[in-house]
Amino acid sequence: DVRVRFCPSPTGNLHVGNVRTALFNWAYARHTGGTFVFRIEDTDAARDSEDSYAGLLDSLRWLGLDWDEGPEVGGDHGPYRQSERFDLYGDVARKLVESGHAYYAYDTPEELEERREKARAEGRSSGYDGLHRDLTDEQRAAYEAEGRKPVIRFRMPDVPITFTDLVRGEMTFEPEHVSDYVLVRANGQPLYTLTNPVDDATMGITHVLRGEDLLSSTPRQIPLHVALIAVGVSQGVVPHYGHLPFVMGPGNRKLSKRDPGGGLQTYRERGFLPEGLLNYLALLGWSIGNDRELFTLQEMAEAFEIERVNPNPAQFDLKKCEAINGMKIRELSADDLADRLVPYLRDADLVGGELTPEQHDLLTAATPLVQERMAVLSEAVDMLGFLFVADDAFDVDPDEAAKAFTADGLEVVRTSIAALSALEPWNTASIEAALRGALIDGMGLKPRKAFAPVRVAVTGKKISPPLFESLELLGREKALARLRAALT
Ligand code: GLU
Repeated sequence: DVRVRFCPSPTGNLHVGNVRTALFNWAYARHTGGTFVFRIEDTDAARDSEDSYAGLLDSLRWLGLDWDEGPEVGGDHGPYRQSERFDLYGDVARKLVESGHAYYAYDTPEELEERREKARAEGRSSGYDGLHRDLTDEQRAAYEAEGRKPVIRFRMPDVPITFTDLVRGEMTFEPEHVSDYVLVRANGQPLYTLTNPVDDATMGITHVLRGEDLLSSTPRQIPLHVALIAVGVSQGVVPHYGHLPFVMGPGNRKLSKRDPGGGLQTYRERGFLPEGLLNYLALLGWSIGNDRELFTLQEMAEAFEIERVNPNPAQFDLKKCEAINGMKIRELSADDLADRLVPYLRDADLVGGELTPEQHDLLTAATPLVQERMAVLSEAVDMLGFLFVADDAFDVDPDEAAKAFTADGLEVVRTSIAALSALEPWNTASIEAALRGALIDGMGLKPRKAFAPVRVAVTGKKISPPLFESLELLGREKALARLRAALT
């Protein structure tokens, strides 16, 4: 049975590259009927906070990537937070030392640095030189007597490490490039190098799909898995590894955590739909075939095969991401979309905690007017604000007012007031007929000149949802009040 995992560190805002990793693991689990394990690599107490732990769970829930084992869900291989697994890591480290797969090394940082520099100067590899690999008991006792505290290093086999990467094919690493590495710090703290493979091994992970930045960890982790099997810690599988292509940001640089456009939170705040963002991220290194760009998570899961992942770096294109999101917005029912707009209107103080029945009806009626035009949900604030804003808070952009309310523009406004004051019934068709009659037929204006002053007066902007519909939704009283205000 396939078991995959997503194991971020809780250091705040998830990065879109991480989200893509989570998505591919999720899709592979769903495709194969396997298990998607979610666990948290929170060994670094100084950096990891409880807030960011909660934030991670919230992010995955928001994305809709449901996990089969992990926090809040439970499972047979818990706990799923590394901070709750320290006893296990200490225990495993001891077993690895006792069995000779790892050893205590007493080199001081200064000694290491001196030897590294010498190696560099002589053109040799600057990795650990193995000096403390085979200390005698007497040598160890002497270092201990000096008060030195040892690190624990893994004893790498002196042979090339070869594996078949699920994305990249066969990979070989020569031993001089993979030296004995530290598993546990001198202060007793276990490192990622130990905790991550121990979790994979004890949780029976079969496939590791992760970013290309971790490729160099794999030749270290494979022999460690073999050792973990030998000492009886592992469930018995050495995972298959697949390294997903880098996600490149603007300027063809690797998109990093620090990039303002890299964090998931930005996408949530701007109003990407989780299904829109995920659909776009799926295209970064994978394709469903036939140049098809739009699909559901379910369709992705049905089609997802690792063999189709492209090893070449993928370019993150925000415009494209917005376009895909816009298409997803158009696929929603108007009611669903209206519900999703509410939080944005609320954040902009256009509506309160609960919508009044009038606000609800207004939003339901207004949503179809903007559904075709939106790329992200937060645009609703700008597009629909004029309908919800309190009367005393409505204002017209001064630049637009200056352009629209010239002498001619004011004449248009006066004529519109006259045409609309007694209009019956008040609906889109009658409003359109009245304004066309008065402004185009009556004043002989071209449509653009005719309607721009009206639009600016009632919506405050040069660009708005369709004008006649907007006037109907706004209601006669407010529409006339705003037109009159333009004259003063
Ligand atoms: N916590 C690691 C990261 O977020 C996980 C690395 C791995 O997948 O092995 O980069």
